[in-house]
Order: sequence, then structure tokens, then C-alpha cells
Amino acid sequence: MLLGPPGAGKGTQAERLRAEFDLVHLATGDLLRAAVAAGTDLGREAKRFMDAGELVPDAVVVGMIRERLSAGGSASFLLDGFPRSVPQADALDGMLAELGMPLDAVVSIAVSREELVRRLAGRWICRRCGRSFHEVFSPYGGEPCPSGDGTEPCDLYQREDDRPETVSNRLAVYEEQTAPLIDYYRARGLLREVDGERTPDEVHDGIVAHIPASPAG
Ligand code: AMP
Repeated sequence: MLLGPPGAGKGTQAERLRAEFDLVHLATGDLLRAAVAAGTDLGREAKRFMDAGELVPDAVVVGMIRERLSAGGSASFLLDGFPRSVPQADALDGMLAELGMPLDAVVSIAVSREELVRRLAGRWICRRCGRSFHEVFSPYGGEPCPSGDGTEPCDLYQREDDRPETVSNRLAVYEEQTAPLIDYYRARGLLREVDGERTPDEVHDGIVAHIPASPAG
């Protein structure tokens, strides 16, 4: 499980870990954005909360995760952006116990508030491959999109909830509802802490040092 505030680099790190360790990447934010884009009832309901930078109700995200964990067979999962509240963590505990799946490690990525605001403000994401870029720190170089036909470039957009007024609410919601999970998992002996203000490679190596299994292949 990757735990950390919005802008900590969870998505960037998750993408590398997924490929390297052959994990099924479960990102509730991505699942919700897909539901919004598809215009489902769930997507319409979730969009109001997402646009305001609030958490989508626990029952909705717990249901999405439950469905995917139980359909996953013997796969290993990487949870990214879930759980985000103590009730979600309690629900996850129950699901994992039912399914007989242990939680190996919870890696908390720490980044200061000033740095998070700087990162979220210039963030651009590709609709197709999901990679994220930054106007200043990691600009898109114009190379073909890895999920395209090999010639088309990335299709970049800025998330609506990366607007400054929404960003500050997302950070407040994180502090209030999600940060308590750091102590929650520390008390269970599962918490591993990584400094998220280093380069993406260094953060990656810090995370890998805490993952029990060896890379696939
Ligand atoms: P993210 O892409 O992880 O930053 O998530 C984007 C938005 O989706 C959040 O600001 C929430 O509105 C919603 N969201 C994502 N994951 C969760 C979750 N576990 N619980 C509640 N809301 C979530």
C-alpha cells in the first residue's frame, strides 16, 4: 500500500512498481475518474465530491475495491489512494481477512505542504498512458505515447481538482481524514517511511527496499 498526500508521487511510483513486481495496480482515483468519463451513475455521484476536493463516500470506494480484490485470484495488489480514512482501513482489514490476503507493507511517502502545492500546480497527465509530467520539474518531451500506436504523442490534460482552491481543500482533507492512517499502520507494525522529496529514482529505491517480494522475472 502506498500512503501519502496528493502530489506525493504515489501514481508515478505505482506505475514503476506495477511493472517491476508484476502487481495489479488499484488506484481509487483512477477508477473514479474512469467512472466519471464513462458517465455512469457512480461517476456522476462521485464527481461532485471530487471537484470539491472532498472524499467520495466510503461505501462507494470500499465497494469498488471489494469487487476488484475478490476478482483478483492469486494476484498481488498495489493499493494507491486507498484507504483514505480510518473506516476505509477497517473495511480493508475485514476484506483481506475474508480473502486470506496479508497486507505486506504500508509505505508512507512524506512531502512538505509547500512542495505539494508547487507540484500539483504544474501537473499534466496523459489521458492514454496515465503518466504525469510537470511544467517545471519533468516536462513532457514530445516522445510517442507508450499506450498509443507508436506515432501519436501523449494526450495531456490538467486535472480539474488541481486548481489552487481545490488543492488546498484536498490537502486539508488529507490532514484530517487520511494522515491518521500513519499511526494506524504504525501501531500494527506495518508502516515504512520514505522521504518523498528526493528524485523519483531515489524514492523508488527507498520503496523497493521495503517491499518483501523480489521483482518479477
Ligand atoms: P487521487 O487521484 O487519488 O488524488 O483521487 C482523486 C479524488 O478521487 C480524490 O480527491 C477524492 O475525491 C476521490 N478519491 C480517490 N480515492 C478515494 C478514496 N479512497 N476515498 C474517497 N475518495 C477518494
